Amino acid sequence: MAELEQFEGAATIEKIAALCRRRAFVFPTSDIYGGLGSSFDFGHYGVLLCQNIKGEWQRSMIQDRDDIVALDSAVILNPQVWVASGHVETFADPLVDCRTCKLRFREDHLATSSCGRKPSKHPGGTPDCDLTEARAFNLMFETHIGAVRDEASVAYLRPETAQGIFVNFKNVTSSMRVKPPFGIAQIGKSFRNEITPGNFLFRVREFEQMEMEFFVPPADAAEWHAYWIDERYNWHTRLGVRPSHLRARAHDKEELSHYSSATSDIEYLFPIGWQELEGVANRGSYDLDQHSQHSGTKLEWIGHEERYVPHVIEPALGVGRAFLTFMCDAYDEEEVAGRQRTVLRLHPRLAPVKAAVLPLVGKNADMVEKAQALYKELRRVMSAEYDADAAIGKRYRRQDEIGTPWGLTIDDQTLEDGTITLRDRDSLAQERIPLEGAKQLLLDRLEQEWAPGG
Ligand code: ATP
Repeated sequence: MAELEQFEGAATIEKIAALCRRRAFVFPTSDIYGGLGSSFDFGHYGVLLCQNIKGEWQRSMIQDRDDIVALDSAVILNPQVWVASGHVETFADPLVDCRTCKLRFREDHLATSSCGRKPSKHPGGTPDCDLTEARAFNLMFETHIGAVRDEASVAYLRPETAQGIFVNFKNVTSSMRVKPPFGIAQIGKSFRNEITPGNFLFRVREFEQMEMEFFVPPADAAEWHAYWIDERYNWHTRLGVRPSHLRARAHDKEELSHYSSATSDIEYLFPIGWQELEGVANRGSYDLDQHSQHSGTKLEWIGHEERYVPHVIEPALGVGRAFLTFMCDAYDEEEVAGRQRTVLRLHPRLAPVKAAVLPLVGKNADMVEKAQALYKELRRVMSAEYDADAAIGKRYRRQDEIGTPWGLTIDDQTLEDGTITLRDRDSLAQERIPLEGAKQLLLDRLEQEWAPGG
């Protein structure tokens, strides 16, 4: 299949950002003070969507397997961790400044950046451009511990969650029943003082990561690397990302990080082009070796007849980047009966609200009573909403924009024969189902496989 060059769909980053704001998914942070560059707050539906993304990750990593355990390490670690990991020395972007337009660019992104004066050209592409030599800029946020602000009190907000896992290797292997191949999974905030953040949630300074370090016998590392690239690719497509928008791309030698012997990016075709969605790296024994050396504690696997430093395979995904991916892939605009509708065709398990319960006539006491009872029954097992305001069409449109897969309408016929209307967000098909079995029907549908377009 020839690879797509352009995103196929109605989404643009601007439209997604506008919908997110209008429908309480994401707000610019500190809005009333003019915001803070590339920082965002999640609103009600954004919180629910993030929770579902993390829940699906956790379910595939921990609940559905018996070889991965969970961890939640601190954000601020002993600063020696970052010396040992190489972050103090090398976690830097090469930056160039333009003396003419006063903008700052990542040297490795010059070919895709725009000149401040002539946005159609790349920096360095006009006779006026006057670029400096590249300088290394460390991306870690510094802070101080305790009352005295001196060299000795410097600490860092973690730029990745992975190191918290490596430094707990001994704690985990001595307290849990694990044996390579096994993994440790963690979800948590990371901080990077990115110089060129942007594109809404794509690159921000404060973000959540979902990382899993999988410890394997060294001879099996290449095989496990291939396994995790496949696993992670399939996770995204199972949750509805179109395969034509997804690819795995191996890094060239020059692109590899200092710790990695092989990395593949799972890339998504965003409206801004192909970009990294998730990294799957073969980190070898680099991290365990470094921490053994710097801490004086040997981090190795000791079995009955064997002793070795495991190699590590690491899938690492940003929650916000996954959020943006699911939104871009799900966003659709169409005309239905002469009216424009915007709909988020999210996988039902990702959808912030699974079911909206709507009495057809909001002032009809019998309908309201039945609808309230159904709503209360549903919300015990899934996220549901009750809405009796405004005309039914308007209520459906609101639910379409937040991606609610099922609308349940209580009408006159319900009062006669105990059936309700189940409206499908994607096909707009309406079926009559018994009110009695509605909860179980939706629970069954949530477990079914789902693909965009049915
Ligand atoms: P880049 O080269 O784009 O700066 P990276 O290769 O350094 O990114 P990793 O360290 O591999 O990124 O991070 C793992 C994952 O964490 C990324 O694939 C992405 O999903 C997410 N991520 C990293 N940096 C950011 C950021 N600034 N904002 C949002 N998500 C991020």
